[in-house]
Amino acid sequence: MSSEVSKIYSSYYGAVAVSGTRIVGVGSHTEIVNRFPKCDVEDFGEALILPGLVNTHTHLELTAMRGYLEDEDFFAWLRKLTLARLEKMTPDDMRVSATWGACEAVRAGITCVGDASDSAMMSMLALKDVGLRGVVFQESFGPDPRLVQQNCATLEAKIAELRGVETELVRVGVSPHAPYTVCGPQLELIARFARDEQLPVMMHAAESRDEELFVREGCGTFAEKLAARGIEWTAPQLSTIQYLKHVGLLETQPLLAHCIRVDDADIETIRDTGAKVAHCPKSNAKLGHGRAPFAKFLEAGIAVGFGSDSVASNNTCDILEEARFAVLLSRAGDCLVTASDALRTATLGGARCLDLQSQTGVLSEGAQADLAVLSLTGPHQIPNHDPAATAIFASSGRDVIATVVAGREVFREGRVVGVDEERLRARMQEIKEKL
Ligand SMILES: [Zn+2]
Repeated sequence: MSSEVSKIYSSYYGAVAVSGTRIVGVGSHTEIVNRFPKCDVEDFGEALILPGLVNTHTHLELTAMRGYLEDEDFFAWLRKLTLARLEKMTPDDMRVSATWGACEAVRAGITCVGDASDSAMMSMLALKDVGLRGVVFQESFGPDPRLVQQNCATLEAKIAELRGVETELVRVGVSPHAPYTVCGPQLELIARFARDEQLPVMMHAAESRDEELFVREGCGTFAEKLAARGIEWTAPQLSTIQYLKHVGLLETQPLLAHCIRVDDADIETIRDTGAKVAHCPKSNAKLGHGRAPFAKFLEAGIAVGFGSDSVASNNTCDILEEARFAVLLSRAGDCLVTASDALRTATLGGARCLDLQSQTGVLSEGAQADLAVLSLTGPHQIPNHDPAATAIFASSGRDVIATVVAGREVFREGRVVGVDEERLRARMQEIKEKL
């Protein structure tokens, strides 16, 4: 066994032995060093070796829009973002933007992302270039029932092309964008397509007050905008979750981003159908959409992970920050969520959201070697009485000193390995000028 081991990652709190792409041993420093005596040991001292963090909901292609859409109302925000994406950014700009976002992710100890993307090919290439694991969900839009066949044909063609660039690390999924941008018949067809093709599904759901008005009552900004475009909409008069069940989307056990406007019956439906939740507390707060019942999701046993959402609505891709904010927000609402709950959500919870729990999100023998090494030596972390509490309440992604994906070190010595970050930085500046 020891001859297969390529490296031991060790710290004051324990050690992980890695061989090739996998974890082959987890235990105390002494135990692991004795078990694999011929192996190189790197001792990080006062640090935590965590399972790689999982960001379940991102839009890496929008990284260039960080700070570009401040203080707009949600509709103006969506419109400005969509126009910038369609009219000002070239495919290469999207790739640069996504790659910069992927670099930010691995710098923050994130090893796996659920990324929803209009230009999914560019996002997949970005993940590959940086060495991230993830599922890239090709977005589909289409509020007009007259265009359903055409939109679905386009989606199917894109998926066929994306299948060609899938790897062990980077997989394809589909993302019907939201209830107000994709009509019911299109949701039905996408659900059927996803089931037939065994594609994972991600969708924005139960996010804003306007969405709730649209689905429940057929009024509000989204309804008015559709009417102005001559697009017919008859509200199902249900909550978003019950509507998605009605159109068959929940049969795909989708990953639902946000889930703010959900009642107890909706939470039961999410649990019973095996749907999952990407909890994006900072985006929800920043856009003024409210607070999702995170503690209730945990209590119900729903698979829930943290999502940064795009940095256009956050403004950082940092799952430790997201975790801290989620715990504080829950406690502000009188729900006791612990640091351990948050660490589990940031790792294994996220992996469950992407159906990758057999591969990542845990430090156990046989799992993929996805690791984040979190230094605990910063002045803001000392003294450290309880490492889990220090990780969640006193740390951020900026304290990560090494990130490993499938046994490969993708972030080390302050650099994203194998990526020309200076060229990307210059290109990001160019894109900024253009926007
Ligand atoms: Zn989103």
